[in-house]
Amino acid sequence: MSRPFDVDAIRAEFPILSREVNGKPLIYLDNAASAQKPDAVLDAMSEQGRTAYANVHRGIHTLANETTEAYEGAREKIRAFLNANSVNEIIFTKGGTEAINLVANGIAGDIQPGDEIVLSIMEHHSNIIPWHFLRERYGAVLKWVEVDETGAFDMAAYEAALSSKTKMVAVTHMSNVLGTVTDAAEIARLAHAAGAEVLFDGCQSGVHMDIDVQALDCDYYVLTGHKIYGPTGIGALYGKADALARLRPFHGGGEMIEIVERERVTYNEAPHKFEAGTPPILQAIGFGAALDWLGQFESDDMIAHEHALYERAYEAVRGVNGLTVHGTAEGKGAVLSFSVEGAHPHDLAQILDRYGVAVRAGHHCAQPLMDHLGVSATARASFGIYNTLEEVDAFIEALHKARGMLI
Ligand SMILES: *Cc1c(COP(=O)(O)O)cnc(C)c1O
Repeated sequence: MSRPFDVDAIRAEFPILSREVNGKPLIYLDNAASAQKPDAVLDAMSEQGRTAYANVHRGIHTLANETTEAYEGAREKIRAFLNANSVNEIIFTKGGTEAINLVANGIAGDIQPGDEIVLSIMEHHSNIIPWHFLRERYGAVLKWVEVDETGAFDMAAYEAALSSKTKMVAVTHMSNVLGTVTDAAEIARLAHAAGAEVLFDGCQSGVHMDIDVQALDCDYYVLTGHKIYGPTGIGALYGKADALARLRPFHGGGEMIEIVERERVTYNEAPHKFEAGTPPILQAIGFGAALDWLGQFESDDMIAHEHALYERAYEAVRGVNGLTVHGTAEGKGAVLSFSVEGAHPHDLAQILDRYGVAVRAGHHCAQPLMDHLGVSATARASFGIYNTLEEVDAFIEALHKARGMLI
């Protein structure tokens, strides 16, 4: 039985939402950078720390076993969230960035000069720089797929970019700037037809839609905890069993080994092979709690709510003279990036803050996309499960005032 979708009841579970900023009620529209955390997540971590905390895996004693059970329980929650086949396909990382670095470093030894990595122009730097490392250090060639004027992924250009040299396709499932949702199943199908592996950056999509890695048939899928109402310092990498069997470990240390001798080492099986050292234990448990919390709701209710917030904002700004909305692709997620002629995004964000409205301004870790759009920065309002239509109206009102001051 799902819980009824009641925004007031949801808001009451996020203590931070009742604070004021500059004497005004906080209107938090920076969810794409990091989402707030409900009591259920904050309490799960503090409760674990207060009642059953020790290091995981190594112990024989009761607390070690209880902590291990909770930590491994969180892994199962992520497995279920992604509909992965096995918990052994879920690797805890410290976030989305580390997950992508883990894959790039893990395949680096197989890269020959001239091997190609296909990326989209709307990738976050986290899904660009690890591949640049392969370009700089191993001679890989990066191929970029552009987006059309609505911000939609250019599937025909993608298909043309694939070749027998393609080793990896690394594409976002949802853009943190444009809100574009990519057709991941089709991207994966074409990548595999070309003999390449495919990784999806799900740092944004994870919180806005149902994910089924088996239906997508991807080799890798990346999540980050802090954008799904969970804590920072924790993320997850899904890797298909056979992909993980090929992938070399990135970090060496405790827990990831089988036998260590002076001149020889053998490794543990996945996922432990990729989790060297003491992991972020409480954060993993908090991540699991966040997925439990989100799982109470019918995802269609949440998606409809976020869509209504976005539409309200979009309809309010679309006709405004000198205001450009970046990203209008069909089926896009609840992210509104925009530019106002004659007003720098940083100045807009600063004035909005005076009205208690938190939006982000900058390049959003997506400089190739900024280049493609012909801007150096945008302002971005990104919506979450706890935002309300009244907040959208207040944001729009504050935006009009800010425009009035700046232009
Ligand atoms: C936030 C984000 C990342 C980086 O994730 P971290 O957990 O902050 O390292 C990568 N890709 C996208 C699309 C993001 O929005």
